[in-house]
Amino acid sequence: MIASIAEKVYSGERLSPEDACRLWAHPDLTELGMLADHVRQRLHPERVVTYNVGRNINYTNVCWVKCDFCAFYRQPGSPEGYVLSQEEIFAKIDELVGFGGEEPKSCEILMQGGLNPRLRLDYYEELLGAIRDRYPMVQLHCLSATEIIYIAHLSRLSLGETVARLRQAGLDSIPGAGAEILDDGVRDIIGFRKDRTEEWLEVHRVAHGLGMRTTATMMYGHVETIEHRLQHLQLLRQLQDQTGGFTAFITWSFQPDHTDLAADPGRWLGRKATGFDHLRTVAIARLFLDNFPHLQASWVTQGPKIAQLSLNYGIDDFGSTMLEENVVSAAGTSHTGQMTLGRMEKLIRDAGYEPCRRDTNYRRVAARPQPEALRKAATA
Ligand code: SF4
Repeated sequence: MIASIAEKVYSGERLSPEDACRLWAHPDLTELGMLADHVRQRLHPERVVTYNVGRNINYTNVCWVKCDFCAFYRQPGSPEGYVLSQEEIFAKIDELVGFGGEEPKSCEILMQGGLNPRLRLDYYEELLGAIRDRYPMVQLHCLSATEIIYIAHLSRLSLGETVARLRQAGLDSIPGAGAEILDDGVRDIIGFRKDRTEEWLEVHRVAHGLGMRTTATMMYGHVETIEHRLQHLQLLRQLQDQTGGFTAFITWSFQPDHTDLAADPGRWLGRKATGFDHLRTVAIARLFLDNFPHLQASWVTQGPKIAQLSLNYGIDDFGSTMLEENVVSAAGTSHTGQMTLGRMEKLIRDAGYEPCRRDTNYRRVAARPQPEALRKAATA
């Protein structure tokens, strides 16, 4: 049934959206995995799976956008709202570099937060500059497109000026968060105050134009159709054709607990995505996104075992050690406590690969962090 598509895959020919649609309907998941693994082996012939030493820092949970899929935010004025002080942020980075080592830009902080109306461009410039000066070993992989659009809006600056000023202050690269599903109809249902599809793409286009690297994400399993997922992949592939600035694609499923969307069963699909759905989504992404060099596992939402299995479905990277995660955990999913560096490396080895540390830009890092130090920091 998919023989003609398999021939395209084996000959390195680009798949059309119609091909991807047929693959999605194909019942044999193992066959999809074999095709995706073929592409992964062609791109990365070494038996190596990489990972990054990093931590998430959620500098504020104050956000006025109230996305219906989000359990992390607190509205402005809420007693549970917070903004971390520089000292608190430095303490978190100290823990990271304690085992991550001194090699320049070898550790990653993924710093993101809500859209807090009290934080202007000067706040971000000061914070990024302070971290850059104090921690040369840290890659500042920070601020989603959604945050950057809001900072530009508050500062009455163009996106280009805003990204350039953040970069000047120390921003190294931009994470792909906030993409959700790149379709305005879907965005109207799950978070109508959020940026539009074209705005999300424009931030990444602008950053790539300035020579910055970014990642791309997709959050599926809420209200979207398979056609929406394919459209999302198609938009990412088109932009990557134009700029080549994406380093990786990461996909995860909607985590419903404590969200407004899940409280309204008429609006969402009504059940969490299964491991089968995840592996199918990952495999088709690997086959369709032929211009993306890397696909990362999503062990935080899918758990260690599905993440390990996904190494046979097109994934070549285990993602970040992620010392701290608050956003997905707020929605009831918490696999972070189960993951240590030792466990991550064992999962990789047991799947037949050699683990290898990398930096945000996928350069290999020689220094190996100490698993015991990581475990202590993760549970501190
Ligand atoms: S997903 Fe981001 S923008 Fe939406 S409510 Fe949560 S913190 Fe705010």
